[in-house]
Amino acid sequence: MKIIYHEKYLTPYPTAGVENPDRIRSIYKSLSSSYAFLTPEPAAAADLLLVHSRRLIDEVARQPELYEVAALAAGGALLTAATAMAGEPAFGLLRPPGHHASPDSHWGFCFFNNIAIAVERLRRQGLIERALILDIDLHFGDGTDKFYARCQEVEVINIESSRRDQFLSEVQTALKVSRSCDIIGVSAGFDTYVKDWGGILQTEDYRQIGAWVKQAAAANCQGRRFALLEGGYYLPDLGKNCLAFLQGLE
Ligand SMILES: [Zn+2]
Repeated sequence: MKIIYHEKYLTPYPTAGVENPDRIRSIYKSLSSSYAFLTPEPAAAADLLLVHSRRLIDEVARQPELYEVAALAAGGALLTAATAMAGEPAFGLLRPPGHHASPDSHWGFCFFNNIAIAVERLRRQGLIERALILDIDLHFGDGTDKFYARCQEVEVINIESSRRDQFLSEVQTALKVSRSCDIIGVSAGFDTYVKDWGGILQTEDYRQIGAWVKQAAAANCQGRRFALLEGGYYLPDLGKNCLAFLQGLE
């Protein structure tokens, strides 16, 4: 397991106060003694254009500090997915998150759609044909869903139940789709946590979900799996939950 991280993810660019660098700090602290870290390069404009309009990219670029971090997050996603393709599971400890970024609009603390950019580059490079994107964040990943709405090759599944047992069984059902896929990418939000906004999942559930993703990838996708950080705002346990997920996933 490799963690993809850049210290510029701690940049305090203008966004909602709840989506702050302390989220990254608390996860980093929980992971730093257990894993090796890789440092990404920023995504090139050509990579951002795989998913986004020139207009949206220019809009973000009007805030140079924000653009730098957002392009680094997208670049982190590219490196995370490439690491998974090379045979090692990987987690992108990224900020800003991405799943609310659509081709020509963005909201919800997101600017560029990290996971879609990563999957699109693998597809354009001919490294994969089909992918499953599993979104376990509390919030519907509308940006990713919209981008892939008419795409037969990439299945996007958002888990939407607000009941713990049902949430977990929806994850298991969703992972059956990986039978026809070459890689599994997880939009990993931890705001489903019982003490976070969602009030649904326990720490052990994240470990279980990670383990199910690993099993499905091993059975169907030559083990290829990666995850990118989306939401998660309950700082005291955010690192613990992320670590549990990665221990299942590795
Ligand atoms: Zn969320």
